[in-house]
Amino acid sequence: MDEKRGSGPRQTCVRCVYDTTIPRTTFDDRGVCNYCAMHDQMDREYPTGEAGWKKLVELAERIKASGKNNKYDCVIGVSGGCDSSYLLYLAKVKLGLRPLAVHFDNTWNSRIAVENIHRVLRKLDIDLYTYVMDNDEFNDLVRAFLKASVPEADCVTDIGLITTLYEAADKHHVKYILDGHSFRTEGFAPLGWFYFDGKYVESVHKRYGTMKIKHYPNLWLSKWMKWLLKGIKRARPLYYVDYQKEETKTFLSKEFGWQWYGGHHMENRYTIFGDNLILAGKFGRDLRYTELAAMVRSGQLSREAALEELKTPVPYDDEVTEEVKKRLNLSDEEFEEILRAPHRTHKDFETYHPTFRMLRPLFWLMYKTELVPKSFYIKYTRPAT
Ligand SMILES: [Zn+2]
Repeated sequence: MDEKRGSGPRQTCVRCVYDTTIPRTTFDDRGVCNYCAMHDQMDREYPTGEAGWKKLVELAERIKASGKNNKYDCVIGVSGGCDSSYLLYLAKVKLGLRPLAVHFDNTWNSRIAVENIHRVLRKLDIDLYTYVMDNDEFNDLVRAFLKASVPEADCVTDIGLITTLYEAADKHHVKYILDGHSFRTEGFAPLGWFYFDGKYVESVHKRYGTMKIKHYPNLWLSKWMKWLLKGIKRARPLYYVDYQKEETKTFLSKEFGWQWYGGHHMENRYTIFGDNLILAGKFGRDLRYTELAAMVRSGQLSREAALEELKTPVPYDDEVTEEVKKRLNLSDEEFEEILRAPHRTHKDFETYHPTFRMLRPLFWLMYKTELVPKSFYIKYTRPAT
């Protein structure tokens, strides 16, 4: 791993599985890491049980009031994955909301993911807004990120989804975007593992792209600010429920015929490639750490089982790799060159990071008024290191 700090022996948190190979890990005198402390702080800020349900109902009331004259009162991003599928059920059935489902199709969906989306939406009678990415543009953008030799291989999809959610909300006069993140099952990516924003996408593509990008929904700061000023908020309802991953998968299968696709974020073939071959394989940043650590902290998995799982290699899918080479038109030599190229980071490109840092007090206010998630405020406005 390239970010191993210090010269001492590797130290592992006595509670979760984070160790000194994870950037910015520190330990208290009991040997518990700072990410566990962050979890406990979030756990107090976002309670579950009765107190959590009360907060969730209050949130639902605010959402209903904001959209009382509209066809929809919230938008929910869907991927066919477990978290977003459960969130649709929670929103519509348990909270009585009127969601519009939003999907950003980067044209690399797995078959199971698409079936999952349609099964859940049909049964819950929820409308779907889909943005289908121009295939050539998507390929040119992600190829540029591979040639740039940075870890954020698939941030083009993440940015595209966020922008599409805002666009759908704006178009339908909706004030709330709900997302299915749960810090108790997904955890927090270590600070410094990756970074992305709209300017970064533009800057990487300017240097390595080969065609003009006309359709990609990039998240320009000016556009984003316009949506924030309109009061479009982002909320994470799963923070307030005792969200148990395994139980939820069983529930979704029984209730909707939903299918498990074999791993976190494995619903999209380009995401599989980006997470496993580039982020983990080339950069040594294994996202399983993040998820397993979270499951251990929230008592859903034993520390021993998590450590055991981390001893197994990251699952590579040769078929996916071949598909990437073919669709991105990369020869074997070009592909090998990409894997061997010296590592670079977002700091080698233009980003909005200096602007976000300058606007730190404004983003603090936005976090307090639900306009941006707390994690955005923490990660994106912290001083440069
Ligand atoms: Zn820990």
